[in-house]
Amino acid sequence: MNLNIRNFISSSDDFRSELDALLAWDSVSDATVQKSVADIVEQVRLSGDSAVVEFTNRFDRRQVVSSSELEISREELALAKDRVSPELILSLEAAAKRVYDYHERQKQPSWSYQEENGTLLGQKVTPLDRVGVYVPGGKAAYPSSVLMNVMPAKVAGVGDIIMVVPTPDGFVNDIVLAAAYIAGVDRVFTIGGAQAVAALAFGTETIPKVDKIVGPGNIYVATAKKMVFGVVGIDMIAGPSEILVVCDGKTDPDWIAMDLFSQAEHDEDAQSILISPDLDFIKAVKLSMERLIETQTRKDIIKVSLENRGAFIHVKDMDEAMDIANIVAAEHLELSIEDPEKWAEKIRHAGAIFMGRHTPEALGDYCAGPNHVLPTSGTARFSSPLGVYDFQKRSSLIYCSPEGASELAKIASPLARGESLEAHAMSAEYRILKDD
Ligand code: NAD
Repeated sequence: MNLNIRNFISSSDDFRSELDALLAWDSVSDATVQKSVADIVEQVRLSGDSAVVEFTNRFDRRQVVSSSELEISREELALAKDRVSPELILSLEAAAKRVYDYHERQKQPSWSYQEENGTLLGQKVTPLDRVGVYVPGGKAAYPSSVLMNVMPAKVAGVGDIIMVVPTPDGFVNDIVLAAAYIAGVDRVFTIGGAQAVAALAFGTETIPKVDKIVGPGNIYVATAKKMVFGVVGIDMIAGPSEILVVCDGKTDPDWIAMDLFSQAEHDEDAQSILISPDLDFIKAVKLSMERLIETQTRKDIIKVSLENRGAFIHVKDMDEAMDIANIVAAEHLELSIEDPEKWAEKIRHAGAIFMGRHTPEALGDYCAGPNHVLPTSGTARFSSPLGVYDFQKRSSLIYCSPEGASELAKIASPLARGESLEAHAMSAEYRILKDD
């Protein structure tokens, strides 16, 4: 199949503006979507369960009568697990364990230190009480997303984990439910879209109000998460998935072709980019792609995605490839090159860095251990993969001894008077010891 993928040459005059246009993505500014999501969120806030049931019936084509039908019990999760093949259950369990073990290393302890005069200062780390995990389910099922969102919450010690997943036409995915069982989710509701986000944010008669909502989803989910931020915490606003492969031209072109497909098959807006200093290699990868796409069950999505947002970038050398990788700040960056650890030192912006020819992104998506919920659309410049830290919060600790308070009050008093806040000043001054 012929593939019409854009070619860029880094030495061309308009390369930077072409690159900016290639990377441009605004996930949540569609005015029609904004309006309909605002309406859904408001109705769920005002009417609770009845609005959730109505929107679920409308958007997921279901015939729910009572909100009690929306919950899947733990017994039903166990039954779903029994219906899944033992081989797949073993993979889910192995992946869950690896993800758990990796995230255990992210746990942040509380700490404190004491000054000579007895004053103690510190930071107390506390898990969130209750979180909502959104598992997408409109067009495809994502058991791996269940594990990636729930395991770090478990490691953090979150008390109550509420999962929501839409079941269009009432179709329940057993693998997703088995993953929820294995991960130890507390309650599962079969709702999705903006109505699920709003229900978790405000709480309804049936759905418990949570403190934070995590997990990816389509534009309705992303827009709703942005709208309820402030009422609850959110992890991030996820855009379409992206991969940037940097290759020195010495990896099998078929491998690189499939790595690019693995992103493109997600959806039509996904982005797959190859950077290489070897023009012949870029041509060989394109030939591989044109041959291999015929073997792919999702070839229609792959073709649209590659022709819509895919690109080949020919650079003069590896240093330039790293500079461009830092501009792209890709969600997934594959360094399919010699000495990947050395080159990775030059990378400042990427959600996850996959080092070496034998480290395809697909392994990280499922089971390597690090989280697959990653910053997209260049947001790796300022944000990080989902992690245990997203499920913990920090409180400052301050204890003043009488001597310590007296010393601090002498610093605080002039500052408070400088701000014309007399009560602040006096409150501090009361603590100054008589003979100080
Ligand atoms: P989804 O669960 O995000 O959305 C389905 C819901 O959208 C439905 O339940 C419905 O309520 C709502 N909806 C659909 N049409 C609507 C309309 N016209 N008006 C109002 N609401 C409407 O499932 P999806 O659609 O399959 O999207 C999943 C997304 O999540 C994809 O973009 C996928 O790439 C992404 N994803 C990302 C990751 C990651 O780690 N970054 C992982 C898995 C999936």
